[in-house]
Amino acid sequence: MPGKIHPILRIKHQSPRDSKRVPTKIKLLTGTYIIQPLRYKIYKEGTEDHCIACDCKEETLEHLLIECEAWNYLRDPILQTIKNLLTANGDVREEDLTCEMTIQVLMNITKIQQLYRVTSDLMSQIEFQSRRLLFLIHNAQYQLVMKDQAKKKDA
Ligand SMILES: [Zn+2]
Repeated sequence: MPGKIHPILRIKHQSPRDSKRVPTKIKLLTGTYIIQPLRYKIYKEGTEDHCIACDCKEETLEHLLIECEAWNYLRDPILQTIKNLLTANGDVREEDLTCEMTIQVLMNITKIQQLYRVTSDLMSQIEFQSRRLLFLIHNAQYQLVMKDQAKKKDA
């Protein structure tokens, strides 16, 4: 959609700190976020497709966002907050929140807004949490990549 603003970016920012989290979200939305298989291809870093955090699974966006156990400590409390916000609204039931739906909420909540009658106020609260979570995971992952690079330099 050239010239059009992605609906997710029309959700207002809540603070300067929140604004800083937007670029990570945009990369994820536009498919330009670098996950391990691509990192390996470009920089020859890490193992071909293994997640650098848990080293046991192929790193995909899905793995990074909701599966990787290394990030449970960051993810669980925020996902719980999102769940509480969504289910308090009435139209979303706990069992609606499958993995797919959770990813949809994290990536682009505007797609489910109408179906689940999520108010714009609620949507901006959830988007705030979602940006926060994506940014925290991104940062934690980035630290690991840096550590990995430093190790290689020493070797
Ligand atoms: Zn992992």
